[in-house]
Amino acid sequence: MIEGLAEFRDALNGVERVLLTTHVNPDGDAVGSVLGMRSVLEQLGKTVEIVVSDPVPSKYQFLIDRPIRILGDSELDEMVKKEKFGVVVYLDASEQERVGRVGAWFDEWIDGSVIIVNIDHHISNDAFGDIVILDPERSSTAELVMEVASALGVELMPSAANQLFAGVLTDTGCFQYSNTNVMSLLSAGAMVESGASPAMVADRIYHQRSLSFYRLLGYLLGTMKLHHRGRTCMMMLPSGNAKTLWPDGEMDTEGIVDYTVQLEDVEVGIFLRETSGDICRASLRSRGNVNVQKVTESLGGGGHASAAGCTLKGNLSTARDTLLAEVEKYLE
Ligand code: AMP
Ligand code: MN
Ligand code: MN
Repeated sequence: MIEGLAEFRDALNGVERVLLTTHVNPDGDAVGSVLGMRSVLEQLGKTVEIVVSDPVPSKYQFLIDRPIRILGDSELDEMVKKEKFGVVVYLDASEQERVGRVGAWFDEWIDGSVIIVNIDHHISNDAFGDIVILDPERSSTAELVMEVASALGVELMPSAANQLFAGVLTDTGCFQYSNTNVMSLLSAGAMVESGASPAMVADRIYHQRSLSFYRLLGYLLGTMKLHHRGRTCMMMLPSGNAKTLWPDGEMDTEGIVDYTVQLEDVEVGIFLRETSGDICRASLRSRGNVNVQKVTESLGGGGHASAAGCTLKGNLSTARDTLLAEVEKYLE
């Protein structure tokens, strides 16, 4: 049994109400994990609430079987005052701060009696919390939720199977990244056995793109440049161009960074995007020996050896120079 699981089971025995949360800008694994975990805990008779800082991107909305709460809802304070949650579970959050504004809200009411549980698969996770279920060998947090379900003797509902399958599918890049292994494939198989539909989930997440997405992709492919004698490839999006290409609504960029490491001989791929005046967000991918988690860690970010990210202060060209200098240190 994975470390922490028995403690988690014991902690659940003593409480009625459980609160779940996940990281800011939730991805497929974040959304899939909290929803799948809610279903598992409800099957055990718990009252479960999901509270997150940011809205769920539209491509993952189909996974939501019942509403989840976005912080800012005044009913939340009342709910907490009336009857406290005994256990708070952080899913897919590499550090406690990754949950965003929800963290400050917790500070207002969490006391020593609330058990904090940390369920995650990021190698950079600093093992915060009272109970830690952490396995960097796992492709996704969804895989760990599956493990929790079987340890607790819960047979997944088909809806939960789809939610967790979405987590594994997105975090393995459709079973293409190096975190695709026997465990992730067996977990995915077990999810399908419980009623997940791989074709439906993949279709909803990857094949419902807007025309704007392809215009944006076309633009970004045009910005791809090689650095470090062809070992690093970068694409960049200035905020002005982002506004023209994507005038309103949330911008869908998921998967675009992957093109940067699909070029021959490229080892590190970077998608750098200017989000506002002087803030840039970088997504990094590696398919060689460079550990991009180490690259981003020194810049205040995190992630995994082959997929990581960070936020940088400064304009696009400053951020580009900083990133390229940092990557160069790791290229032998
Ligand atoms: P992305 O490039 O946004 O798909 O992120 C790749 C991986 O890096 C994911 O596991 C993220 O959780 C992680 N990550 C991205 N941005 C950050 C950040 N600013 N801080 C910590 N981890 C991050
Ligand atoms: Mn995630
Ligand atoms: Mn994940």
